[in-house]
Amino acid sequence: MAKIMVTGGAGYIGSHVVKLLGECGHKLIVYDDLSNGNKWAVLYGDLIKGNVGDEELLNKVFKQFKPDIVMHFAAFIQVNESVKKPIKYYQNNTSNTLTLIKAMINNNINKFIFSSTAAVYGIPSKIPVTEDHPLKPINPYGQSKTFVEKILKDISYSSNFNYVSLRYFNVAGADPDCKIGQAYRESTHLITRALKTAKGEYEKLQIFGTDYPTKDGTCVRDYIHVVDLAEAHILAMDYLLNQNVSDVFNCGYGHGFTVREVVNTVKKVTQIDFLVEETDRREGDPPELVADSSKIKNVLKWKPKYDNLEFIIKTAWEWEKKYTTEIKPNS
Ligand code: UDP
Repeated sequence: MAKIMVTGGAGYIGSHVVKLLGECGHKLIVYDDLSNGNKWAVLYGDLIKGNVGDEELLNKVFKQFKPDIVMHFAAFIQVNESVKKPIKYYQNNTSNTLTLIKAMINNNINKFIFSSTAAVYGIPSKIPVTEDHPLKPINPYGQSKTFVEKILKDISYSSNFNYVSLRYFNVAGADPDCKIGQAYRESTHLITRALKTAKGEYEKLQIFGTDYPTKDGTCVRDYIHVVDLAEAHILAMDYLLNQNVSDVFNCGYGHGFTVREVVNTVKKVTQIDFLVEETDRREGDPPELVADSSKIKNVLKWKPKYDNLEFIIKTAWEWEKKYTTEIKPNS
């Protein structure tokens, strides 16, 4: 069993990874400032309320807990916001991550799993996109993660420090046991937004752009179930703990769905026919973003279990209904 520190473990993806790690019997410390996370989402381990930029607290926690590995989820993730507030993103996602890595190295902790993103590719010149595609982010969010990937590469060359960077495609769905799920106050993601519209929280769902060069004119994305993504973290951890390597992997299924296909599936799953409005393109959306996931399947032997859009949406819908009825936001 490993000792793992999980930053951002009270957030959407982090909490699903914590659940899986906890079920496997690992010893966990969850480190989260609860700016976007929730205490109720932490089903295993001890929760320490702290910010990743707080070097003093990090040193204290590292000295006490001595983790074998750090998984780093804590980050801001809204692309639109990053365009308006770039400093907020570079400070939290890049600078604070550097503080975390520095504190790790000072405490002889040298295994790191980083939550990266398909946004590092910008508008890909080739689909499906492979890990060796040039990194050309088109917004501060993607750039803030690209900087960290570069920093990690440099540090792993210069010292005994190993990392795995996982580039997430469109993460969606919720814990099939329905104990945790996405709980952002203002999610702008398509599936969550469509489900909230079905629930009546919004009057209509807007489709951003219908003139893209895709099969029905709307953007194509590779939607991956959050539990399959959580499994990828367990495999990445085993890989890092068993050998001296550093690597980067795409996390997606390798095929995509258009916005219209997603909207129709949401209507089918919820049995609710909500209002849809076709509007202009949203700035900075690549027409198509689909992973080539052969590397993670070959190297980490990742075998996704929930590669099914209906299932992804069904789990998200079950969670969405429970979240407003039984769970108090921000508790
Ligand atoms: N989208 C949309 N309406 C919405 C939210 C998203 O048409 O209310 C589209 C968006 O333009 C993109 C796709 O759905 O083409 C996925 O967007 P999302 O924000 O979920 O993820 P992204 O791919 O931007 O990370």
